[in-house]
Amino acid sequence: AFNFSAGPATLPVPVLERAAAEMLDWHGSGIGVMEMSHRGREFGEIFERCEARLRELLAVPANYKVLFMQGGALAENAILPLNLSRGGVVDHVLTGSWSKKSAKEAARYCDARVAASNELDTAPHHRSLPVPASWRLSPGASYVHLCSNETIDGLEFHEVPDLRALGSDAPLVIDCSSHLASRPIDWSRVAVAYGGAQKNIGPAGLTLVFVREDLLGHALAACPSAFDYSVVAANGSMYNTPPTWAIYVAGLVFDWLAEQGGVEAIERRNIEKAALLYAAIDGSGGFYRNPVDLGCRSRMNVPFFAHDERLHAPFVESAAARGLVQLKGHKSVGGLRASIYNAMPLEGVQALVSHMQEFAASHG
Ligand code: PLP
Repeated sequence: AFNFSAGPATLPVPVLERAAAEMLDWHGSGIGVMEMSHRGREFGEIFERCEARLRELLAVPANYKVLFMQGGALAENAILPLNLSRGGVVDHVLTGSWSKKSAKEAARYCDARVAASNELDTAPHHRSLPVPASWRLSPGASYVHLCSNETIDGLEFHEVPDLRALGSDAPLVIDCSSHLASRPIDWSRVAVAYGGAQKNIGPAGLTLVFVREDLLGHALAACPSAFDYSVVAANGSMYNTPPTWAIYVAGLVFDWLAEQGGVEAIERRNIEKAALLYAAIDGSGGFYRNPVDLGCRSRMNVPFFAHDERLHAPFVESAAARGLVQLKGHKSVGGLRASIYNAMPLEGVQALVSHMQEFAASHG
């Protein structure tokens, strides 16, 4: 089946096959990765290779720590202000469901302000991203937070804003859960990036955090030690037991990504896949529509709606019958949604487009 789930999401087939083949016996060690001590030599090798590959793929500068954490992006919504807010002011840019959740959570720990919002877009759909020049940034904010790809609403910042050009020297923090490793990250603009692994990276349970070193060491006293970035960094992400299996599979995904030509190559493929799908929606003569402005459409998550909402259930059912699964839209917005992460091959999108056309022809 081609799996269009928003997450946990499809993984590359060769990765699944390799993980299955090594399940009982990793490289002749006589045990599987799930059974290994995280402090042993074997897992040490797996971990080091995984981190090195990730750094290479995303060109992570030497002055950034990569932390392998747990709790998902929602836990990071709390862990971040606990580590970086210093209990002061932070700015949030609201662009959809996930960024709103981040701001609400941060407000429990600091003075979380709304620097910009697209809430006035026609409900229930967010259509656009607030133009950076219009953001009301607070002087002296500990950081500015945005969600660089809104998974539910299907909006993506195709370019991460440059806060310096807006007259701010606050660190920019991005929740990049749903497009992490789908395109390069401009580290000259991003101080902290975080995301759950369960979309482009591997199994749920692993959260990746990239943090510029100069920001470490200011956690609030209430911050749990296991979530204190400087403690996690000082212990090489092994202050407590890391999600070993998820890290191992992530490493296999990174090897696969390198074989595909790396992040730039996968980005080109992602652009091609997204263009094909949006063209099918826009070219359907109004049978399908996507409400997002052209310049903000996500390359990863494509929500779309049939002209009559009664068609959504039969669409999902008939698609599943031909192996195109998990196309139901998020419950908060309804409709349909195709998530086309790195591991979705072009053929999957082509099959979806054929189904959309046939469905429209038979229900037009
Ligand atoms: N942020 C974004 C952009 C997401 O897409 C998701 C999950 O879909 C989350 C946060 C929540 O992540 P988690 O379930 O890993 O806490």
